[in-house]
Amino acid sequence: MTKNKKTILLTGCAGFIGSNFLKKIACSEENKSEYNFVVVDALTYAGHYPTIQKDIEQNKHLSFYKIDLRDQSAVKDLFEKYLFNGVIHFAAESHVDRSITNPNIFVETNVLGTLNLLNASLKTFKEKNVTDFKFLQIGTDEVYGTLSFTDPAFTEETPIQPNSPYSASKASADLLVRSFYETFKLPTLITRCSNNYGPYQFPEKLVPLMIDQANQNKKLPVYGKGENVRDWIFVDDHNDGVWNVFLKGKIGEVYNLGGNAEKKNIDVVKHILKGLKKDESLITYVTDRLGHDLRYAMDYSKINRELGWSPKVTFEQGLSITIKWYLENQEWVKSVQGSQSK
Ligand code: NAD
Repeated sequence: MTKNKKTILLTGCAGFIGSNFLKKIACSEENKSEYNFVVVDALTYAGHYPTIQKDIEQNKHLSFYKIDLRDQSAVKDLFEKYLFNGVIHFAAESHVDRSITNPNIFVETNVLGTLNLLNASLKTFKEKNVTDFKFLQIGTDEVYGTLSFTDPAFTEETPIQPNSPYSASKASADLLVRSFYETFKLPTLITRCSNNYGPYQFPEKLVPLMIDQANQNKKLPVYGKGENVRDWIFVDDHNDGVWNVFLKGKIGEVYNLGGNAEKKNIDVVKHILKGLKKDESLITYVTDRLGHDLRYAMDYSKINRELGWSPKVTFEQGLSITIKWYLENQEWVKSVQGSQSK
């Protein structure tokens, strides 16, 4: 690794959002010359090393470690080995349905894993005197709970009211991050973003699952009546917001990010079918998810006002890029599905 550059720890970069961050932001020419990035991932079913293998091997400013954030001593050792200037924490158990069948691992990874990182970060900040240190927690709109069809969108002041074990674990992590700022003055930032879609998303999530099913002329399972509304953001717009907040966000603050694209699930599915020129008769309605939040919507005026960020990619553009990517990367889909039993 080259010397005299800032070193940033990125967690969870073998997953969907983190791998896109690694490819587009950590590997931009500008950032290559300014930073070294240390990438850690436990490579769970959702983390696929081949997604980032070439990037790691071809870029001297990147290094990778297979580390489970639940392992306190492994996290400690990593912070002994490197003097980090910051952490961008993407790693999490991220699928709501899995949190309903097995909540425990969500608490272990999302809460205790985050606490391990915070403790190690605090040591760097205080004892090693890295005064420009920053810890950025990647959060979700789901911590705010649910909205009716007519409620105003979530702001950063909306009370935290998570409804699923996933969102409860993410909310707990956010609150721990906040507490490290309030109690210890660890310089922290939190972003909360709406539903992402784009390349490299594990095909258990709505968009890639529906593309994969439709592509194989299989039934497209839609929860309930498909009326639930999500605000969709293309992954590059999210990551652009994350990097903006990391560089310029006000320490101790929370920033909401949204895609300006509220859609009912059924309409997302119909868009996908249209994009693939498939018939809507492939849609099948299945028993609704337990505790399924009706609607999420994000008011991102704070980050727009303070940092000048707004989403650039329309839903139609982003979906068409995503569909094309999945059609051209069938091997990737098969390989991540094949490693699901890990
Ligand atoms: P993902 O499930 O695709 O990837 C998560 C990554 O974390 C995987 O590579 C996995 O191997 C790794 N990981 C899991 N447990 C770990 C552990 N104990 N130690 C180390 N690594 C571990 O998730 P994603 O969709 O890329 O989400 C990334 C972050 O963004 C998460 O914090 C998620 O809560 C948040 N987020 C996601 C969305 C979305 O729509 N996907 C929206 C808002 C916020």
